[in-house]
Amino acid sequence: MNDLFTVSNQVAVVTGAGSGIGRASALALSQSGASVVCGDIDTRNAEITKSLIVDGGGRALSVSVDVSKREQVGALIDMAIEEFGTLDIMCNIAGIMHQSTVLETQDSDLDRVLDVNLKGVFYGCQIAASEMSKRRSGSIINMVSSAIDAPAPGIVCYAMAKAAVAQLTKTLAIEMGKYNVRVNAVAPGFVVTAMTSRHFQLDDGSVDPERREAVVTSMGKMAPLRRVGEPEDIAGAVVYLASNAASFVTGQIIRVNGGVSMQ
Ligand code: NAP
Repeated sequence: MNDLFTVSNQVAVVTGAGSGIGRASALALSQSGASVVCGDIDTRNAEITKSLIVDGGGRALSVSVDVSKREQVGALIDMAIEEFGTLDIMCNIAGIMHQSTVLETQDSDLDRVLDVNLKGVFYGCQIAASEMSKRRSGSIINMVSSAIDAPAPGIVCYAMAKAAVAQLTKTLAIEMGKYNVRVNAVAPGFVVTAMTSRHFQLDDGSVDPERREAVVTSMGKMAPLRRVGEPEDIAGAVVYLASNAASFVTGQIIRVNGGVSMQ
């Protein structure tokens, strides 16, 4: 059974690998045997993730990428193939948050969120699927959100983009099935990362420990499992979807949320 859950000798590209869920996923894929290309717009943080992998005995590269630029996503995937010989696993994890109601939303905010959270994932899916279809093998994993399951007042741009990525995931899964390329998504609940720290940051950007405790406690109470998520909780689902254990799984949205929403 153990072999089912490894990704030994596979090559993974992870976007958003410099922080939070992306970093935890890159580390977990490496610990499960993959060579990992760590892409992020924050080059310094991507390099830190790479160093954590290499220091742990794994193989990794770090690459600066803005996923909203098609040519940069293409270069990221080309780098994986050039350096490690193939592309087996594509994790589209990079994302940004934006808070506004529908009425408050400016065109520039709408464009930026859709560019990164939707078009960035579309490019990752399209370019990876093209490569993987030639090899008749591969796993694409997109990061969506619990925001796809309910109205999301105050974060409309973010939630629209994530709902569209869920649709992209299922559509591409059908189109790629005949090539043995699997396409799935993970929908995290509340996970403590830089993205969610906005709920307990002070104006100067530092964390207010009391507010953090209050937010984590109240968000945790909303889940049947009575806690919020850690990035590693999400990384486990990423490794599963990448591995042979999920070889008959495609077009699925795996909700890793402590039970907050169930579909
Ligand atoms: P995070 O800690 O902020 O990590 C996101 C990473 O993506 C950051 O390093 C960020 O760099 C990078 N990034 C942003 N824009 C990029 C771009 N254009 N190109 C390449 N990299 C870019 O957030 P996280 O919580 O781990 O989120 C990871 C994913 O999980 C996101 O797609 C998010 O929507 C999703 N998610 C998170 C939660 C949660 O509760 N945390 C829940 C549901 C879904 P900068 O820091 O420089 O922006």
